[in-house]
Amino acid sequence: MKNQEQLLEIESTILQEIEKTKRSIGELRELTSPIAPDCAIGRISRMDAINNKTINEAALRKAESKLKGLELAFQNRLDPEFGKCARCNNEIPLGRILLMPHSRFCVHCAS
Ligand SMILES: [Zn+2]
Repeated sequence: MKNQEQLLEIESTILQEIEKTKRSIGELRELTSPIAPDCAIGRISRMDAINNKTINEAALRKAESKLKGLELAFQNRLDPEFGKCARCNNEIPLGRILLMPHSRFCVHCAS
């Protein structure tokens, strides 16, 4: 059972992470906006731009799914099962929840 203090810490940490993730989603959205097809940038740098865009798009998808997981974690924060491994029932460290909010397993059970 978590005490009030732990709960407040969990709340504020998740909210901070949500804000951080939203900011990086905003930045990634800008980076993945369509590349202007003008000739001002050479062919090589255009290839670079396309490669970077693919990488940024993957990062954007990852960040968006992380945000969903974080929002879900925030909704579930009062659930007595919140932060417990679905397999061994051990507490999952908050750092891991923030990093991988979708994971229902502790690091031991996930590996
Ligand atoms: Zn476990």
